[in-house]
Amino acid sequence: MAIIISGKELAEKRRAQMKEEVSHFEEKYGRVPHLAVVLVGLDPGSVSYVKGKEKACVEIGIKNTTIRKPDTISQEELLNIVNELNEDDSVDGILVQLPLPKHMDSDFIINAIIPQKDVDGFHPVNVASLYLKQKGIISCTPKGIMEILDYAHIEIEGKRAVVIGRSNIVGMPVSKLLLDRNATVTICHSRTKNLSEVTKEADILIAALGKPLFVQEDMVKEGAVVIDVGVNRNLETGKLCGDVDFEHVKEKASYITKVPGGVGPMTITCLMENTIECFLRHMEEK
Ligand code: NAP
Repeated sequence: MAIIISGKELAEKRRAQMKEEVSHFEEKYGRVPHLAVVLVGLDPGSVSYVKGKEKACVEIGIKNTTIRKPDTISQEELLNIVNELNEDDSVDGILVQLPLPKHMDSDFIINAIIPQKDVDGFHPVNVASLYLKQKGIISCTPKGIMEILDYAHIEIEGKRAVVIGRSNIVGMPVSKLLLDRNATVTICHSRTKNLSEVTKEADILIAALGKPLFVQEDMVKEGAVVIDVGVNRNLETGKLCGDVDFEHVKEKASYITKVPGGVGPMTITCLMENTIECFLRHMEEK
């Protein structure tokens, strides 16, 4: 039976540490970090994520401004908002909540955020920094996954890591971070043949495909570390569930994360870490 790595517990610890750190900023720098979030429309998932971000900011003592706009605004209006935030010296981090309405080009908007304020780490400059091993902002979910592995003292070097999913926000960056820690990494996707033959070789298995309970017991090696990134609705119960069939896989894994309470809380926590990082760099530049 696996040890459950609690992302929730780690998130609470990290948030308490950040709260303590931020409490000295007013005295040291004359102000606290400031995160600006732009929410376009009323997508229930996005509304809930933005609420979670506001709550985390309040908890840690980070100033938060949420700009809410109807989904009828034009791309030009949104671009103007981003440009104003770029130029506003009192703002350290900018996050445009995705997905954006269909009439907008998300890449265009994300590319408009200056890389120094790109707390999500989605700007091409920050993505390139990750691949070139240069200083930049690492996107929140992959960063959170690495922190979870470190929190549980999972050895990464020399291990066989398999990542299911190759998206720009999870699969690809987490694969690069694992590679940088000297894991031997295999990236799987929807065209991977004999997927379970590959996943069964993993010492560390990262499931980030967005398919409820997809990873079954017979796809996992005895003693593997299993990190479940998925956030899905269980089609039968309607409850939140991951990409991993937790109840069965936990019998075979050595360590496992749960949904909810695993990677999710660390994503928002890493957003707070990135906001502090952007703030500190901003202060250094002065
Ligand atoms: P995505 O952009 O839809 O990418 C999914 C990836 O999984 C794709 O690369 C796809 O392959 C692959 N895939 C789909 N079906 C597959 C299958 N049957 N076998 C093997 N690979 C398959 O999703 P995402 O944005 O990376 O998110 C993945 C999951 O993580 C979602 O459930 C999402 O909600 C969750 N998520 C959670 C957090 C968090 O904070 N906890 C943050 C971000 C995302 P192709 O490339 O071939 O299409």
